[in-house]
Amino acid sequence: MKTEDIKNLKIGVIGGGYAGATAGLALSQIGANVKVYEQAPASGEVGAGIGLRPASVKLFKKLGIFEAIEKVTSPSDFFEILDAKGNRITLEEWPHLSEGEEKHNTRMIHRRDFIDALTSQLPEGVLQYGYRAEEIIDNGDSATVKFSNGEEETFDILVGADGIKSKVRTLWSDSQPVMQHAHAYRAVIDGSMGEGLLVDDNLRLYLEAETGRMIYFLPLRHRGENGQISFDITVPHEDTSWNPNVSREEVLEMLKNFDERLIKIVEKLDWEQVNQRAAADLDPQDKWNSDAVVLVGDAAHAMLHHQGQGANSAVIDSGVLADCIVEAGTVAEALALYTAKRKEPVQELQRISRESWNAESAGKTAFPEKEKIDY
Ligand SMILES: Cc1cc2nc3c(=O)[nH]c(=O)nc-3n(C[C@H](O)[C@H](O)[C@H](O)COP(=O)(O)OP(=O)(O)OC[C@H]3O[C@@H](n4cnc5c(N)ncnc54)[C@H](O)[C@@H]3O)c2cc1C
Repeated sequence: MKTEDIKNLKIGVIGGGYAGATAGLALSQIGANVKVYEQAPASGEVGAGIGLRPASVKLFKKLGIFEAIEKVTSPSDFFEILDAKGNRITLEEWPHLSEGEEKHNTRMIHRRDFIDALTSQLPEGVLQYGYRAEEIIDNGDSATVKFSNGEEETFDILVGADGIKSKVRTLWSDSQPVMQHAHAYRAVIDGSMGEGLLVDDNLRLYLEAETGRMIYFLPLRHRGENGQISFDITVPHEDTSWNPNVSREEVLEMLKNFDERLIKIVEKLDWEQVNQRAAADLDPQDKWNSDAVVLVGDAAHAMLHHQGQGANSAVIDSGVLADCIVEAGTVAEALALYTAKRKEPVQELQRISRESWNAESAGKTAFPEKEKIDY
């Protein structure tokens, strides 16, 4: 679209998570008049780490926010999968880490630092906390949102970045989160509690293939005097309550065959501080956009965390959406182009993530997506 037309676009983004904050950044950078509406009164990310993949790092460089990200991350070279006792199954360099001379290392980050780094880069006034979208009307060539505080706004483009339980998605889909009969128990701990396992900046997955129980050991060495570790235990579990409450004793019993250093870490965790969540995703969604409304991030394609691609896909979506608005002739064409570019690769990630890990898949490659996805 012409620069002048983009300047006149009024865009509303519902949800101020990774997808929404990145949309706020990317869309304001192309000149649109954008506001991000977040229901929470302030940022409320859980204590856990994620790995920002090379494609996300490349996007942050393009958006000019890499320095802010760099300050709160450590660069990582590889991902290692081990068995429960710590014997190596696979070790592989992160795909697409180098582009010619330039390296785009995967970067380990704490979730709170990530959202803070993104929102700190938003122009003044773009992010509005305390706005919950309650009713959404698709008018064909615009969309109207009624917020719980009584305010109402009409936008040329409405971006649904409101997560797995998206209100925006209900315009055309009655899909609900699909519980996957697994739990994730997550905590961020001081490096001194790491039983000597915090040795570098690389992600390690300890996998008991026979039971599907696993521990993701994600280093955050840039945090605190001793560095920190994001420790994530993921196990199959029949309890599908959204926030389960499983005891340390039950978890220790499930992990009894793991390396004794990992067991010691679990014994030392402050169990009250462990974030417990049932694993859920979405079935692939047919429709991602109308002529005025579009979904990004988990709202479009929530996936399980086994490939560590949910947040990464969310930020890439928002970068691609901004590119499509520049590239296409009209809003409707831009939203259709975005869906055409993103739906297939992201649904492949959703599919692979559902497969989780087993002895065969882990033995083949740490990155089952890398031959199929070109970013
Ligand atoms: C256990 C676990 C581990 C994970 N590990 C990784 C990993 O290692 N790497 C990775 O890339 N991804 C990982 N993910 C996935 C990642 O957390 C999600 O994909 C990511 O948070 C999606 O971002 P989002 O912005 O689309 O949605 P969300 O983070 O869910 O943000 C949506 C926002 O919208 C707001 N909102 C909702 N409804 C409304 C409304 N009606 N009005 C206004 N605001 C609203 C919410 O308050 C929220 O702030 C993991 C997920 C889990 C559960």
